[in-house]
Amino acid sequence: MSTIPKIVILGAGYGGILTAQRLQKELNYNEADVTLVNRHDYHYFTTHLHMPAAGTDSIDRTRVPISKLIDEFKIDLVKSSVREIRLSDRKVILDDGTLSFDYLVIALGGEPESFGIPGLAEHAFKIRSINSVRLIRQHIEYQFAMYKTDESRKDRLNIVVGGAGFSGIEFVAELADRVPRLCKEYDVDRKLVHIYNVEAAPTALPGFDPELVDYAMELLAKKGVDFRLGTPIKECTKEGVVLASGETLHAATVVWTGGIRGNRIVEAAGFETARGRVKVDEYLRAPGLENVFIIGDNSLMFNEEGRPYPPTAQIAMQQGVICAKNVVAAIRGGQPRQFVFNHKGTVASLGRGQAIAVVGDKKMKGWSAAQMKKLVDLRYLFIIGGIPLVLRKGRIF
Ligand code: FAD
Repeated sequence: MSTIPKIVILGAGYGGILTAQRLQKELNYNEADVTLVNRHDYHYFTTHLHMPAAGTDSIDRTRVPISKLIDEFKIDLVKSSVREIRLSDRKVILDDGTLSFDYLVIALGGEPESFGIPGLAEHAFKIRSINSVRLIRQHIEYQFAMYKTDESRKDRLNIVVGGAGFSGIEFVAELADRVPRLCKEYDVDRKLVHIYNVEAAPTALPGFDPELVDYAMELLAKKGVDFRLGTPIKECTKEGVVLASGETLHAATVVWTGGIRGNRIVEAAGFETARGRVKVDEYLRAPGLENVFIIGDNSLMFNEEGRPYPPTAQIAMQQGVICAKNVVAAIRGGQPRQFVFNHKGTVASLGRGQAIAVVGDKKMKGWSAAQMKKLVDLRYLFIIGGIPLVLRKGRIF
């Protein structure tokens, strides 16, 4: 019987892929068996999904086969869906089998949170995965294609985006760029298309620099985005959304970007969670478990002021690096390393050639911020795939 420890990583998103790559680098030959489980055989760039969703970039540029990112002689890739985590048995139940583990890394990512708003789960699209954004793009194009031949829905060309956080704003910005092109392609008057962005908070991008938020809103309003701020959605139906103000926005397309929560599989595993996220220790370990690490959107960590870090790709990647070090330390009986988040800045794209950013104490807007966004994307491609991936997937111009 093999005495080699078994490491199982669940999820090949930002956190999982970084953990796998760093383990592959740090572990010696035959020091551990590493298995990476992911629902798809590709890794996708969640932070880029708003573009294929709106149709301003291709699906192909938003994903990469996992086999191109890992060494399959060192890591076993299992394409399957995790159904259940059985901590006491040290087993993970997949759609088509079972895996045993000595060390487990949970990086399954978050799920959309609909805050119990009736109808959202059934009638609204979500920007969540490659499959979900392909559907949004096709659905919107279909509405344009149908407009001239089917008079039954007058609101075919109306699009409601719920949530004006980062995903919502980035998506409406792409839509505002795409709609004129769709109008031209389908011979539709631009005035017939309405893009609504609805947000419960009194401002878009809550918590972000107010001057940059004003810049973003002004720019997007000029591009034709109709904001409804301080206005919660009360209900979503097949006809559109009903707002708390009493107004109904009729639309054939509703896309919900208004919230993210942890993963139900993690909740069901028996961890104590806050909206599906597990409060981990400074070494990224689950409470009371020295062999279970939880990172990315599944984890909950607090800053010095006691406020939770928002779930971002940035923190997930940094956690992946430290997580790999700590798994190796656990195997070798070494000292784990404390995770300290290094916030590098925040950038939100506002469509072609436009963005806003805060990097350190520097504010940026317009073209320079858009270059910063490109740099962030290219840096990520470089980290996970080196120059070849930058050249294949990067948007340099
Ligand atoms: P993910 O990257 O979500 O990866 C989870 C992986 O697990 C996926 O590959 C998924 O397919 C797989 N998986 C899930 N369930 C199962 C299962 N049951 N079985 C097998 N595999 C499974 N953050 C930023 O820092 N900057 C941004 O600009 C930004 N923009 C965003 C835009 C959008 C539209 C969204 C939705 C998020 C954005 N974020 C951004 C947040 C960021 O994407 C997440 O915080 C980040 O992806 C979390 O990484 P993760 O490794 O925890 O999970």
